[in-house]
Amino acid sequence: MSKFCPKCGAKEGDFYKGFCVKCYAELNDFLDVPKSIAVRRCHECKRIFVKNKFVNQTFGELEKIVKTKIKTTLFKPTFTFDLDDRDLLVTVHGSIDEAGFFPYQQTKRIPIEYKDAFCESCRKKSANYWESKIQIRHKEGSDDETILDRASQRIEKQVAYLAREDPEAEAFYGKHVREGIDLFFGSSRVAASVVQNMREQYKLRFEKSGQQWGVDANGKLQMRYTYCVRL
Ligand SMILES: [Zn+2]
Ligand SMILES: [Zn+2]
Repeated sequence: MSKFCPKCGAKEGDFYKGFCVKCYAELNDFLDVPKSIAVRRCHECKRIFVKNKFVNQTFGELEKIVKTKIKTTLFKPTFTFDLDDRDLLVTVHGSIDEAGFFPYQQTKRIPIEYKDAFCESCRKKSANYWESKIQIRHKEGSDDETILDRASQRIEKQVAYLAREDPEAEAFYGKHVREGIDLFFGSSRVAASVVQNMREQYKLRFEKSGQQWGVDANGKLQMRYTYCVRL
């Protein structure tokens, strides 16, 4: 059977469904993507909202948002994602035919529309909301400010480290007070883990005290905790 491509007139080479493969690929669109994707992003910490929570913006997370919305007619498809300015680039690799003789890839651009949001942690931070605080104080007879500053910096570093994975750690602020330094945490869980780390790493002794400060929506008592360390 003689081959003839009705589009370009080619008479030899690879053919698929009556066209030369090149023309077949040109005539078909193998990748279907949404016109744009809307992503809620916190204007403070730039975390994005995926599956009911704010997370760091990574390809993995953007992938979760778009993956359910893209379709391909290539066989054995795999997808790769890239970010270009405000657009997400989706590339599908696969083959035009089921047997895999004609590999092909197609790339499309999906503009990301960021919707302004304000995540819970940043909201807490801006309202100076706190659930636990660490008081760094002088030991009796000591007035060396650098010891307090150093401890505070160590804690700040830990919080920054935790915040890379845990948005709740974002709700954190510190202030100098007459007696020393106070560090405030929007999450008691985060404060407890920082204290635990400081105990293990620097063998510091923290005294813990609790204080009731309200009742939550379910009628449960809400506690605020204060940890005090003397250096
Ligand atoms: Zn052709
Ligand atoms: Zn935020």
